[in-house]
Amino acid sequence: MTTVTRFAPSPTGRLHVGNIRTALHNWMLARKHGGKFLLRIDDTDAERSREEYVEAIRADLDWLGIVPDAEERQSARLAKYDHAFEALRAAGRVYPCYETQQELELKRKIRLGRGLPPIYDRGALALSEGDRAAKEAEGIAPHWRFKLDHDEPIAWEDGVRGAQKFDPAQLSDPVIRRADGSWLYMLPSAVDDLDMGITDVLRGEDHVSNTAVQIQMFTALIAAHYAAQQIPAFAHEALLVGKEGKLSKRLGSLGCNAFRERGIEPAAIVALLARLGTSLPVEPIADRAVLLDTFDLATFGRAPARFEDAELERVNSAIVHQMGFAEVADRLPKGMDEAGWHAIRPNLAHVSEAAEWWRLVTGPIEPREFSADDRAYLSEAARLLEWSDDPWHALTAALKEASGRKGKPLFLPLRQALTGTDHGPDMGELLPLIGEDEARARLARGGE
Ligand code: GLU
Repeated sequence: MTTVTRFAPSPTGRLHVGNIRTALHNWMLARKHGGKFLLRIDDTDAERSREEYVEAIRADLDWLGIVPDAEERQSARLAKYDHAFEALRAAGRVYPCYETQQELELKRKIRLGRGLPPIYDRGALALSEGDRAAKEAEGIAPHWRFKLDHDEPIAWEDGVRGAQKFDPAQLSDPVIRRADGSWLYMLPSAVDDLDMGITDVLRGEDHVSNTAVQIQMFTALIAAHYAAQQIPAFAHEALLVGKEGKLSKRLGSLGCNAFRERGIEPAAIVALLARLGTSLPVEPIADRAVLLDTFDLATFGRAPARFEDAELERVNSAIVHQMGFAEVADRLPKGMDEAGWHAIRPNLAHVSEAAEWWRLVTGPIEPREFSADDRAYLSEAARLLEWSDDPWHALTAALKEASGRKGKPLFLPLRQALTGTDHGPDMGELLPLIGEDEARARLARGGE
């Protein structure tokens, strides 16, 4: 059976690090097994869904290189949900309810007060035909609940959490459809997972109790001959937390736009999120084939995974240090060539800093003050400079011999005179880029 996974965001906001991770893992699961990865836009909530978010989700996935094999949209499939609903209704698995929000809240409080779990009491099931007709005559349209089968224990082997068991009698019959006919998330999602042949549902552990309910929905849909497929396998990954606990407060700053502005490479996000919360070490692995090779749900831990900006930065700079010229050429300062990139790359935490370092090559550089001793030394350096394949090593060898200097006094005044800074890229790589005439002029200026 070909693996088919899906990432199913609701387009009510931008993606953040938590759902990027879910998308990535679903993509990896499909790729690893040569399967298919779907993007499913869960846009049944017409009021909160926005087209701009649909577009942003696509653009973000594209930037991250998490490319779906196909895209589906729930708003285009409403007739399917009607059909499934009718099948469940005919099978006696959905029922109309007329309580207002206030009534439900009151019932909840009473149950809590009595020490009972605050689940729906199934009051609507006790209504007679006449009671229902009276409600409708009053103009009260029903909302609809899915009727859990209390005699059918719910169990599954979770890909991350292991054996899971739920007593359906301890769960509320979920509302699946609002009084205005619109859909809540539960039923459309189950219908789609069946219709689209989803083999693996991998999502956050905040969905565990939804899965319990949806397993009965899948079974009921199959029994009602709505669909013949097998129900998917489920895996729920532990949530991401920040240093300070929940990430929810700063999710706005943990999306692709903010990452891009900070100079974070998509490859760094992918390398970090691929392994965060697993037993594998987080490493700056830019090659996705390597990440896919080691991807395994069995390595996923059950404890919340800690997302830290410092770790992302660490992975990012290590990724930048591996990036080839062709990958970054269009983001480099004008005139910076492959040799320039190679010289400067090890000094960068972010590609955008290349311009700053490139200025050391093109100038103008910061003029420095030197002691009389150093001025004499630099004048000598200007005289001794000879151009070759490796002018830096030739120069420093000649100066060592001529001046008797070594270590810092040998190197630092040269670096300061040649670049205006105390540290930076390897001088052996930088000097050829500066060029003979300019290098001699800078040394001579230092000696004045
Ligand atoms: N639209 C749901 C969400 O964003 C999908 C959850 C799922 O089934 O993966 O939470």
